[in-house]
Amino acid sequence: MTDVTLSQLDGKLFIDGKFIEGRGGRNDVKNPARDQVIGQTAETTVDEIEQAVTSARTAFRQWSRVPAKTRSQALHRLGDAITADAQRMAHIMTLEQGKPLNEAKGEILKLAEACHFYAEEAVRVLGEIVPNDQNGYQSQVIREPIGVVGAITPWNYPAELIGWKLCASVAAGCTIIIKPAELTPFTALAIAEKVAEAGIPAGVVNVLTGKGSIVGQALVEHPDVDKIAFTGSSAVGLQIQRSCPTVKRLSLELGGNCPLIITQSADIDAAVKGAARRSFRNMGQICIAINRIYVARPLYSSFLEKFAQAAGGLTIGDGLLNPGADIGSMASADPLKKTHEHLADALDKGARLITGGKAPEGDEFAKGFFFQPTIVADCTHAMKVMSEETFGPLVGVAPFDTLEEATTLANDTPYGLASYVYARDLQEIYQLSAELDYGNVAINNVDAGIMNAPYGGRKQSGIGYEHGREGLLEYFNFKHIRLHHGAGA
Ligand code: NAP
Ligand code: MG
Repeated sequence: MTDVTLSQLDGKLFIDGKFIEGRGGRNDVKNPARDQVIGQTAETTVDEIEQAVTSARTAFRQWSRVPAKTRSQALHRLGDAITADAQRMAHIMTLEQGKPLNEAKGEILKLAEACHFYAEEAVRVLGEIVPNDQNGYQSQVIREPIGVVGAITPWNYPAELIGWKLCASVAAGCTIIIKPAELTPFTALAIAEKVAEAGIPAGVVNVLTGKGSIVGQALVEHPDVDKIAFTGSSAVGLQIQRSCPTVKRLSLELGGNCPLIITQSADIDAAVKGAARRSFRNMGQICIAINRIYVARPLYSSFLEKFAQAAGGLTIGDGLLNPGADIGSMASADPLKKTHEHLADALDKGARLITGGKAPEGDEFAKGFFFQPTIVADCTHAMKVMSEETFGPLVGVAPFDTLEEATTLANDTPYGLASYVYARDLQEIYQLSAELDYGNVAINNVDAGIMNAPYGGRKQSGIGYEHGREGLLEYFNFKHIRLHHGAGA
């Protein structure tokens, strides 16, 4: 196993291209699989926040003007540096987040992929010439980078959710200050090491640790931060929107409560496989996790039987000892507590426990936040498991009789991030694609996001997009230049 030490990142901030010893108080970071302290972060002070914003502002003047090709090359170098160190970076992520090592490595490699994707997009940001209704005029629409970006990110995907913001900022010519989740700061600092190694100029990327309510909020309120790119809960997203003291650009990727509809025409084995993957992967701590499943009544009991088998077959493990496990520890006590609450609420209100419902047994699991993949059936929307985001390895199932009923139930939520369908009938597929009120609809698969298509929610799931060209455009202002040149008048 790679020898990984966190001492070079302990208590550090990354400001103006250098790792500095944070001057603020310290917060413990734990390995959630063992409830063991692995290191400490520094609470960024007011002065250090100022230092980072000044550095990002100064760097912006240069970085926004260098040729796109130079920014593209920098991102390719960053992608290469991350790939070369993927095993160590994955180890750091598993240590602080709890997901199995192989999965953490997959996430690091996807971060590298994002670097290369946005490196390629950087040189393809074009403008437009727009027709005028008088001769002798020309309207150009050009794109200019927004400025200094504050990125605030959660702990469930500690590398990718930083990566999309970082890569788009760097590609566009923006500069960025990243405030990672308190639970997973070392992955962010490890990314900063790669930024330095890739020779990205000082101040273009900065990482500040500390509490969201203090350090994150300070970025939100800072007049010299031009945009906030946030991924996290809808409650904090709304708080950010409400507390901006000046007009600011915002991208908010928020919570979900994602449905899966399995129609009578579905390939039931494919649906079972998809349901097991997307309900329990990353211990259900995914904004696009399947929260609730609606099954055509004729398939209901056979689906439950096969789904219980698939869930029971998933391996659970300490992510470092068992790198290939399907499921690791949850990231902290909070999502585990919420999972217990939603389960108790469902059982109280008449749901049937199909499988799971408790922690796995054994020494390996004694200290960590482990929980078995859990399925409850005969659920109604009076139950939290169906109406709120659980963010844990618990899923509710209910039967339906008509497609209209399934669509109404699926859309009966304030959220609109992702939805899933298993069906083979073309008419059903088209009807559901049209009627599901979600930013992403995945049909006969459960991977709603790909790197080169826009990814984003609607309603209380947020505003703006990541991934794809659309994700890059979020980091630009448009400028209309109307020129009277007089030719041809
Ligand atoms: P969270 O509590 O909203 O925290 C997210 C980030 O915001 C953390 O860095 C947090 O810092 C910071 N923060 C907290 N209060 C803040 C404030 N007042 N001002 C500025 N920043 C503040 O979310 P979470 O519990 O970490 O993550 C789970 C949520 O994220 C779920 O709802 C999930 O659906 C959502 N999510 C959405 C997507 C998507 O793409 N739509 C992807 C992944 C996750 P601290 O850690 O220091 O508190
Ligand atoms: Mg939180």
